[in-house]
Amino acid sequence: MIDIYPNAQSLSAICPRCSSTSEGSGKVYFQGTHVLAEHRCNDCGFDYYASLPIGHAALYPVTFSQDGKYAQYNLEKGTWMALPLIKSLQEKPEREAEINLFQVQKGRELLLVNCLDSCFGHVFTKIWNVYLLKKKFPTNTLAVLLPARCSWLINDEMVEIWAVDLPLQEIDKGVKHLDSWVKEQFKRFDRVTLSVVPVHVDQEQLNFGKILQAKPFDLADFGRLPVQLTFIWRNDRFWLNSRLLDLLHKASIKFGGLSLLRGLFCYQQARLMGRLFQKIRKVLPDANFIVTGLGKQGRLGSGLQDRRVEQIDLSVEREWNEIYRQSHLVIGVHGSHMLIPTALSAGFIEILPRHKLPHITEDIGRHQPGRLAHFLGRFVDEFSSPHLVSRHVLAVVKGFGFIYTNFIKQSNGNLFKNIQGLKESDNPN
Ligand SMILES: [Zn+2]
Repeated sequence: MIDIYPNAQSLSAICPRCSSTSEGSGKVYFQGTHVLAEHRCNDCGFDYYASLPIGHAALYPVTFSQDGKYAQYNLEKGTWMALPLIKSLQEKPEREAEINLFQVQKGRELLLVNCLDSCFGHVFTKIWNVYLLKKKFPTNTLAVLLPARCSWLINDEMVEIWAVDLPLQEIDKGVKHLDSWVKEQFKRFDRVTLSVVPVHVDQEQLNFGKILQAKPFDLADFGRLPVQLTFIWRNDRFWLNSRLLDLLHKASIKFGGLSLLRGLFCYQQARLMGRLFQKIRKVLPDANFIVTGLGKQGRLGSGLQDRRVEQIDLSVEREWNEIYRQSHLVIGVHGSHMLIPTALSAGFIEILPRHKLPHITEDIGRHQPGRLAHFLGRFVDEFSSPHLVSRHVLAVVKGFGFIYTNFIKQSNGNLFKNIQGLKESDNPN
């Protein structure tokens, strides 16, 4: 945790002009996703900003001058985070954001968790810290700063909500007047500290049923419920299974033109999905096939329930969560859109682009225990055919009963006692 009010803790940083180390001046600035410390270099007298080690900035620190002429950051891995941050200080945000305070709490000492981010997956994983901190410090006053759209993910009435009403993609540009608004709130407290918001927390300690207000799939019901398979659609990341289309897709991202070719990629994805479900239907004629996700482009074959939308809101989130919690498997391409589906479904099949290999499992919400983790959670290559994916699906659906019964017998239920949806009474012994 970092002390921020009434006195900001001084942390050292490296001057982006002369690379010598200096301590912070004690002044901080709430940019949006990031909190910055103001520095003056002891050696060359240069004024610069340094990111506080919070969230992704703890992994990829950034120091930079206000005009952006001098900057230091991880060129190999930190560019995605550093460049929008530096730009946001050069081009001040124009759009006014409404910031609202909900569930005001009493208390003299506040612990603030900044979950602002332009990526939904990042917001969601940052919010996990709120629940872990509440468990660790049950009597502390907690506040969470987050995009208003994600307020529904806070289901604890004892947590203050500081909601910034901006579309997620705008948050990268910085939040106008956030700094003064946040500092005004600090005046209600004697002391404020900032959580360092680790982005890789142990999600096995989390109760996704509580966070998402939807009970995850109960594995004891796997064989009893009608088979439901759900594909999570995206119209900016695709299952293409074609070297040529993959090359075109990468080129359209690099050189522009994705909007022109989107229809083609959606057509191919819908075609592969249709073939996948046809193959499964031959073996499981009564299975339900549902497609959720953003973007309605791409005509789906008959027999598929199309629950895709162009705009997402709370009612859509809740409707989808009901679908995921009843899905034997969710299927989709790697990305943060898989976090909630995989937190609620029994299992998943993820189509993993090769450039995402270092990020495997980052977008998986719930991990089943022991051998079941691998049996129910499968990763396949981006060039996998519908035939191969269907074989994985059938292996899970048809083989689960045998694995589950044996696994429970051998574990004596011990592995399951902390897993939601599984009880000691499920143990056939
Ligand atoms: Zn310097």
